[in-house]
Amino acid sequence: MNVIIIGSVALDDVKTPFGEVKDALGGSAVFSSLSASYFTSVGLVGVVGKDFSPEYIHLLNSRNIQVEGLERAEGKTFHWTGYYENDMACAHTLDTQLNVFATFNPKVPKTMQAAPYLFLANIDPDLQYKVLDQLTQPKFILLDTMNLWIEIKREALLKVLPRVSMVVVNDAEARQLSGVTNLMKAAQWIRDHGPRGVIIKKGEHGALLFWDNEIFALPAYPLDSVKDPTGAGDTFAGGFIGALAGYGDLSMESMRKAAGVGTVMASFTVENFSVRRLLELNPDDIRARYQQLQSITRMNDF
Ligand code: AMP
Repeated sequence: MNVIIIGSVALDDVKTPFGEVKDALGGSAVFSSLSASYFTSVGLVGVVGKDFSPEYIHLLNSRNIQVEGLERAEGKTFHWTGYYENDMACAHTLDTQLNVFATFNPKVPKTMQAAPYLFLANIDPDLQYKVLDQLTQPKFILLDTMNLWIEIKREALLKVLPRVSMVVVNDAEARQLSGVTNLMKAAQWIRDHGPRGVIIKKGEHGALLFWDNEIFALPAYPLDSVKDPTGAGDTFAGGFIGALAGYGDLSMESMRKAAGVGTVMASFTVENFSVRRLLELNPDDIRARYQQLQSITRMNDF
């Protein structure tokens, strides 16, 4: 087991200018696990309710994702309702029903506790914190969060920060968390609170990665059709940590490649609703798009 992921496992209602879905498979841990599973073995920690179809659990299991840490509790599955406007730049939350997450006490199964890579995907920072103490020899810990938790669980989030290696947030979240508008300064603020690195995602404008004293900037993969941005950030992070775990080291070279992989994986997710596009990929699709991204970002010497 190489990567442990804790986060939401959800049924989502999503509306975009290109259609809508109800009770669709989603959640930060689902998008990120599926994305990471193309590159390494993944263990998922989370909770679902009795309304969650066993077929979905089977689906995850069939994809190199171990689900012993996915509890099935009395009650209903986490449910998120959101919509996007024409520019699809930001998700508008209409409703968040924590349901079984409200009383969840995450337990990492013994067989997974020695995993070297951990992704604390977006969920209540108190739950993220509880997982930290259960890993015996973590080598790299990545943390995601969102506006809701920065607003209502700021103290809990600030307690997790010093214990993680890297934070991955979007530009609005970086500004909200740091209270600083300039993104270079916002990244520095985050690193001053503990993490060795930061990734700031900027939606269709790409991402900035800060690691030690180096910076890497990458555009998003240019697409002519985006149907549903839900899960793009989680897919990016899952692809990033999955690829990084596959490389096995924390060099800047590996960080750059992993950011490219994350960018490519996210570009697939947004082409259709829910996890549909993520499920139909093969390694050649991923490699081909990575090479295209590489060729459009290469510059000759000055
Ligand atoms: P993303 O578009 O990558 O930011 O993430 C979308 C996913 O986040 C959806 O599938 C939702 O189920 C999930 N989500 C939305 N709000 C929350 C929340 N408060 N905590 C955990 N997951 C959430």
